Amino acid sequence: MTSVLTTPTSDTGNFSRIEALMDEYQSPLDYVQTARTKIVATVGPSCGEPDQLAQLLRSGVNVFRLNMAHGSPEDQQIYVDRIRQVSDELNAPVGILVDLAGPKFRLGVLDGDFITCARGDEFFFVKGESNAPNELVASYEPLVNELSVGDLVMLADGTVSMQVEEVRSDRARMRVVQRGTIRSKQGINLPGIRLSVPAISVDDHKHAIWAAKAGVDFVSLSFVRSPDEVRTLKDIVRSSGSAANVIAKIEKREALDRLDEIVDEADGIMVARGDLGVEIDVAQMPLEQKRIIRVCQKFHKPVIIATQMLDSMHESLRPTRAEVTDVANAILDGADACMLSGETAIGKHPQEAVEMMNRIALATEKSMIGQPLRAIGKKRADGLHEVTSAVVHGAGAMAQVLEAKLVVVASHSGRTALGLSQQRSFVPTIGISTEETTLRQMSLYWGVTPLRNAPASDVEQLIKFTDRWACQNGLATRGDRIVIVGGSHLTAGPNDTQMASGIHDIVIVHEVEGKAG
Ligand code: PEP
Repeated sequence: MTSVLTTPTSDTGNFSRIEALMDEYQSPLDYVQTARTKIVATVGPSCGEPDQLAQLLRSGVNVFRLNMAHGSPEDQQIYVDRIRQVSDELNAPVGILVDLAGPKFRLGVLDGDFITCARGDEFFFVKGESNAPNELVASYEPLVNELSVGDLVMLADGTVSMQVEEVRSDRARMRVVQRGTIRSKQGINLPGIRLSVPAISVDDHKHAIWAAKAGVDFVSLSFVRSPDEVRTLKDIVRSSGSAANVIAKIEKREALDRLDEIVDEADGIMVARGDLGVEIDVAQMPLEQKRIIRVCQKFHKPVIIATQMLDSMHESLRPTRAEVTDVANAILDGADACMLSGETAIGKHPQEAVEMMNRIALATEKSMIGQPLRAIGKKRADGLHEVTSAVVHGAGAMAQVLEAKLVVVASHSGRTALGLSQQRSFVPTIGISTEETTLRQMSLYWGVTPLRNAPASDVEQLIKFTDRWACQNGLATRGDRIVIVGGSHLTAGPNDTQMASGIHDIVIVHEVEGKAG
């Protein structure tokens, strides 16, 4: 192992700098009571004021999601500014995820805003204007020509289905198979139908560029069908000067058919159960969710489980038993993050929903204490140099054997922090970086707490800082051990994206001195 440390400055200099850093680092967040599983909360009218966002952050939110299906870039920019302001005030890095709508089709405006469909009723999808109560229009006009006899059209979140009986150049005739009520602007799902619509619409493209320029940390793409689509979004984001991670939403059969390739290409995955549960047989969804998590583990990619996790908390102060069990099972299966959608965006109890998710995670994670580390491979794990991979493996094992109170990782790109996270060690991991974007992206990594203002470029200063910070926050006392993972060039150069230059080749075990902070 190479152990060339950067030259320390004088001891007195170090200490005064650390004192100053400690003053800067006064965060009211409680590091002990926050779950290792990350919480993604969707922002909307129920939680969008600065004091509400601050409250959600204090209650355990790690990443805020902005849904581009609801609100223009101008509307969402207001939330971006507020989230950044609150994050600065609380001195807590928080991620922002911009969720692109993707090729989602919607019904046009219905006469009277809703139609009740009885089993056996006849309806038509028509091009252009609808002229009769049983004529529907779709936001995607070529739809009529892409339907075939026998296809199922799912409406109203899958509660209403119609089967195509005849297709002509300007209209498709359908019959209601499953009755129910459809409403204006509701989504249209077409399970198993291969559509020629591009993955990234003109609006998605504009929104991705806005998101990149707004400096958000994650951009997710809906209805992904192939790894090429993920690559295209990465190119758009990168060419706009952003290092945002690209998250692929798995919600179509076609994505399940190419899961390994998509997971390999993406920086992270979202199991978008809202649409997935309509695009495939809902009874198959739980097993597919487990399979997606397993594939993400294989490729060392973070995975978010989304939609209806605490759905009843839109109205109620308490979730159902089934919802609590759903969240717990997702965590036990290996989810990195659980997501709240309408619960926080438009629900009556956004804060209680976040607190409840945090409580379920804390209770569930207790069962993980002392579990063997998940293997990330001593050889090259995905995206990690084989030396880093072996060092991560060693550091995780050392932290367990030595019953360390903390693992601290200095990471330029965040990949090493992700490697540590993927082991699912119960020892809390503190991620530090000179890059604010990296810190915010770490907010999605299970068990990793990003910490601002730590001296990431000097090992000696880092040890002293960590010693004091851990004691001040009640995470360690004199004699406790802290494992520090770094590189001989802790601040890697601009080539860090090429794996070789971001090598982590140092593991230090520090015994806490516990000097007064
Ligand atoms: C979903 O379908 O579960 C999802 C998260 O996407 P959206 O909220 O955009 O429908």
